[in-house]
Parts: sequence; C-alpha cells; structure tokens
Amino acid sequence: MGSNLKTEEEIKIMAEAGRRLAHVLQVLKEETSPGITTAYLDQLAFRLIGQADAKPAFLGYKPEGASRAYPYTLCASINEVVVHGQPSDYIIQDGDLVKLDLGLKFKGFYVDSAVTVGVGRIGREAKKLIEATEESLGLAIEEAHIGNTIGDIGHTVEKYITGKKFSVVRSLTGHGIGRHLHEDPQVLNFGKPGGGEDIEVGMVLAIEPMVTMGSGRTDTLPDDSFITADGSLAAHFEHTVAITEDGPIVLTRL
Ligand code: MG
Ligand code: MG
Repeated sequence: MGSNLKTEEEIKIMAEAGRRLAHVLQVLKEETSPGITTAYLDQLAFRLIGQADAKPAFLGYKPEGASRAYPYTLCASINEVVVHGQPSDYIIQDGDLVKLDLGLKFKGFYVDSAVTVGVGRIGREAKKLIEATEESLGLAIEEAHIGNTIGDIGHTVEKYITGKKFSVVRSLTGHGIGRHLHEDPQVLNFGKPGGGEDIEVGMVLAIEPMVTMGSGRTDTLPDDSFITADGSLAAHFEHTVAITEDGPIVLTRL
C-alpha cells in the first residue's frame, strides 16, 4: 500500500485537478434540467475538460469486470441506474434523479467526483434519499483521518444510511486514486469500526456512497451499467479526499 501514498507536492497537483473537476461538474449540474439529453451533458463535459487542460478519465477506460472500454466522458445514471449509466439521446424528465459521475486526469493525476441532481419536482422520499446519501459522504469524510481505519469510513456510511431506512450498495466501492483511476485500498460503504487498513498521511481516497431505497442489491445491464435489482431509486455522491497531518482535505471542491 505504501507505494500509493502521495507527497505534499503530488497532493497539490491533485488539488488543482480537483478544483478543475469541481468547476466542470458544477456547470453540468446547472445544465441538468428537463428537456436536455444526457448526450448533451457528455459533450459539454468533454469540451470543458479540454478547456481545463485536462483529459477525460473514463473515456476509453475499462473497469475491472466490464466487457469493453467505456466510450464516454461522463457517466449519467438515471433513477434506478446506480452508476456507469451511458449518455444517450434520453431526454431528462421532471422528477428524475440524475447521477453525474466524472473523472479527469491533470498533470499525470486522476480525480473523481459524483453528484446526484434531483430534477424539478422530485418525490419526498427521493429528496430524503439524496440528502441522506450526501450527508453520509460528509460524515465519512470526517472519519478519514489518521488514527482511524478504512473500516471506520464504511461503518459510518452504513450506520447512517441504515438509520434512514435506506440501503448501501455492497457490490460497488470507493477506491484509492492518484496516478491510476483505481488504486488500493478499496473503500467499502460498510465495515467494522477499526477494521481494514489504517488510514495514513498521503493516502488519497475516492469516497463514494451509493445508496438505494430498496435492498441495495444490483444487476448489471449489457452496457455494463449497474441497476438496482428491485428497480428502486438510487443516489450517489463522491469526493476525492487527501489525508494530511491536519485531517482530510476534499480536493474535488470549488
Ligand atoms: Mg466516480
Ligand atoms: Mg470513483
């Protein structure tokens, strides 16, 4: 694991990468509205990442277990699709939950972030799902400091989400990130307090709770996207977080 630790200099580069990603994601979020297609958001993401002197992280990337390389810049997952939804001519509707997941590479380093946008008038439970997922990410980030373990992060997410009567997705995980999009350690959204690896200064983690209204079980579609097995709604938030002596720093924030 030690080889994945980043120096202060490397974390500075990743922080600059993260600011650029946060800016792009903010624009995409503002554009996510009824009547536009997810393909439009993908093209916009591609253009804005280029303007930021960065490269799309997902385009051409083949995740472990996927049948082929990912053909788009953005993952746009609608309603019961949890992650890896492919942009298409689907027209976004009032009431949709749109998960925007985006990564970029800047000066040799990757950053990764995701948000869930509730479009227009969404149901009360859907709103609670989005809020709980975002809140669980915030709580997980607070746990990401020396003296804790990776298990503390997962335990915190799971405990909070279960308390809200929702379920974490156990088949998908967060991850270390740096010179590669996915590095060790895996960052599960469940776990035992004090379990797993110790959190160390220089770790950079993509922490990403994925939460559903139903059982949390998933199926895979032929396009490699993940969908809830019971058709229930899903939400997803993600930040790239650096562990420093002074605690966690969220890199993918404006
Ligand atoms: Mg992501
Ligand atoms: Mg990720």
